[in-house]
Amino acid sequence: MGLRPNLLTRRTAGVASTTLALLLSTAAVGVVPAASAFSAAPAGGCVEPADVHTDARVKAGAHAKHEPNELTAAQVREREADLAAALAERSRFRAGAGAAPLATVTIPVVVHVIQRDSTRAGGNIPDSMINQQISVLNQAYSGGTGGAATAFGFQLQKINRVTNPSWYPIISGSQAERSMKTTLREGGKNTLNMYLGELSNGLLGWATFPKKTLDKMDGVVVLGESLPGGTATNYNQGDTGTHEIGHWLNLYHTFQGGCSGSGDSVSDTPAEASPAYQCPTGRDTCTAPGLDPITNFMDYTYDSCMYQFTPGQASRMLTAWNAYRAA
Ligand SMILES: [Zn+2]
Repeated sequence: MGLRPNLLTRRTAGVASTTLALLLSTAAVGVVPAASAFSAAPAGGCVEPADVHTDARVKAGAHAKHEPNELTAAQVREREADLAAALAERSRFRAGAGAAPLATVTIPVVVHVIQRDSTRAGGNIPDSMINQQISVLNQAYSGGTGGAATAFGFQLQKINRVTNPSWYPIISGSQAERSMKTTLREGGKNTLNMYLGELSNGLLGWATFPKKTLDKMDGVVVLGESLPGGTATNYNQGDTGTHEIGHWLNLYHTFQGGCSGSGDSVSDTPAEASPAYQCPTGRDTCTAPGLDPITNFMDYTYDSCMYQFTPGQASRMLTAWNAYRAA
């Protein structure tokens, strides 16, 4: 498949900004979020344990005290064991029912636009940006921007506009987020619910990982202005959506686990010691083979810098789909 001119521009822009990115990278060191900085559980009451099923993307320079939900090694082990169990369960089920695993998947997408009021500054993202976001997802997941083709395509099913100042901004891990999702979530485990709005703490987005049982919290939350043409400078080509949906389809960050162990549980993404910001071409933080995968959608670089999933990631997403989200 050929590249669309604007996608070529994106990739070129990533290379062109290298010098600036390298100059700025020193400044970014101080804002690298602490690994495994989970939000503290709210005091009192019956609360869930730290949720290993969510993950977030942050802007370079954001002043978030905690990046919610980067996973610890123990949480990754727990999730990998859960995946193995889910696969075994599905395999037994299929042996009886004869249903074959899906090879291609069209994901219905319900977009909830959370607004404070009817102004653009109040969250009123136009339909045109949402349609462009769906196009960006289809390009990214089909390999149309230069990466591996995955099994996934996306079909916009509905745009649900909600004016509710108490859900604006959307605060990660808050009771208001729970209330919003419990009220709004639609569809089964195969339905992608995307919540757009202003977000707390400079976050670009966060997502839930798949689980065996459907949870009302399931879905991705994305900064509305990160959609294509939005005002989030360097993060306004729609790849926050691409990245968060990667988590929703069971991908970890490329820097998961650093230089040691099984890293992100994908064999063809070179190990990376820490998140990469901006577009630091040539970065190589581990002695293991391969440069850091800064162009991978599951790193933290600028949208113009990231343009690919690997075949291993495509395979992991499809495996997880069949284990967790297929009907
Ligand atoms: Zn992430």
